Amino acid sequence: MNFIPVNEPFLPAKAKIYLNQCIDTGWISSEGQFVRDFEEKFAYTVSRQYGIAVCNGSAALEVAVAALDIGAGDEVILPTFTIISCAAAIVRAGATPVVIDADSETWNMDVSQIESAITPRTKAIMVVHIYGLPVDMDAVVAIANKYQLAIIEDAAEAHGQNYHQRPCGSFGDISTFSFYANKHVTTGEGGMLLTDDSRLAEQCRSLRNLCFQKTQRFIHEKLGWNFRMSNLQAAVGIAQLESIPAITERKREIGRQYTQQLESISGLQLPLPKTDYAKNIYWVYGVVLSNDRSETAQEVMSVLAERNIGTRPFFWPMHQQPAFSASGLFENIHCPVAERLACKGFYLPSGTALIDEDVEIVSRTLKEVLA
Ligand SMILES: *Cc1c(COP(=O)(O)O)cnc(C)c1O
Repeated sequence: MNFIPVNEPFLPAKAKIYLNQCIDTGWISSEGQFVRDFEEKFAYTVSRQYGIAVCNGSAALEVAVAALDIGAGDEVILPTFTIISCAAAIVRAGATPVVIDADSETWNMDVSQIESAITPRTKAIMVVHIYGLPVDMDAVVAIANKYQLAIIEDAAEAHGQNYHQRPCGSFGDISTFSFYANKHVTTGEGGMLLTDDSRLAEQCRSLRNLCFQKTQRFIHEKLGWNFRMSNLQAAVGIAQLESIPAITERKREIGRQYTQQLESISGLQLPLPKTDYAKNIYWVYGVVLSNDRSETAQEVMSVLAERNIGTRPFFWPMHQQPAFSASGLFENIHCPVAERLACKGFYLPSGTALIDEDVEIVSRTLKEVLA
C-alpha cells in the first residue's frame, strides 16, 4: 500500500503558465507584477483594502506586531493552543504574551476567558482560527472595542472561511495569512498582511522591505526585515485564487466523509461540523482520544505510520514550550483543555489532493487500530 501523506497540495495547471511567464520575462524578484496583483486580488477575496505579501505567515505576524507598535511593557492576549509563530512574534518584539485556554469543542481560544486576562498593559488580542472553525469574533470585537485594544487576526488556516457572512481575515486591525504548502492557497512558502488602514498598510510595506526610505533609500528610521515575496511565489498563488470556493467545498466534503466513517468509534472526539456562526472547513481533520482511552496520540500515530498513514500531532501549548519557560515566561500557568488536546489530539491526512479512496483507507485503518 502506498503511503498516504498528511498533506499533498493540489495545484492548478495555470500555475505553470504564470511561472513560465516569470521565467520568460526575467521578473522573478518581489518587483514583479504578480506580487502586486496577488496582493490586490487576495485582499479583495477577504473584503480588505490593502494586502502586503510577505515570505511566510510567521513573518506576517512579526510585521503585524511591529506595525502596531507593540513592544516592551505591552501585553498581548493569545490562545495557548496555537503555533509558536504567534507567541514568538510577541516575545521578539519585547512584549509579553498572555495565554488563554482552548474551548474543548471548537479548539479555538475560549473567548469567555479574555476579559479577565486584560490588564492596563494589554495592547492587543491576537486571535487564531484553529483547524477550520473561526473564533467567536463578535465576542472578541466587543471586548476589543470596550477596552480599546487592537485585534491581530491570524487567519492562516481560514482561507475561504466566514464568520457569519463575513470573511475570516476581515476582522483584524491587521489580519495575516500563510500560503505554506498545507494551506488552502499555497505559494510553497508565503504569507500576507491585510488591513483597511492606509497608515498601517504603509508601515507593513516598509517593515517587510528593510524600511528603505523613498527619498533617501539607504537611510533607515526604523529596523525592518527583508520579508518580501517573490514574483514566482505570487504567480503560483494567483493561479489558485478563483479556486478558493471549490477548495473550501472539497475540504468540507473530505470532512463530511471522515465524520461519516469515524463517528461509530467510541472514545474519539471528532471536529464539530458547525457552530452557530460557521460551518467547519476542516483545514485539517483533527481527532482527540477521550480520557478513558489509555493510548496517547503519539502511540496511535506511530501505529498509523507503520500502516503507511501520515499524521501530525496537535499544537503543543505555548505555556509549556521550553523555549519560553527557559526565560521564566508562563510560570504557574495551567490550561487544562489545551494540555489535554496536546496529549490526545492529532490530525489525519487532509490535503486538497486527498482522494475519496484515501479517506476510506485512513478511516478503516484508524477504526482497526482503535478497535
Ligand atoms: C501555518 C501557520 C502559521 C505560519 O505560517 P508559515 O507560513 O508556515 O510561517 C501561522 N499561524 C497559523 C495559525 C498557521 O497555521
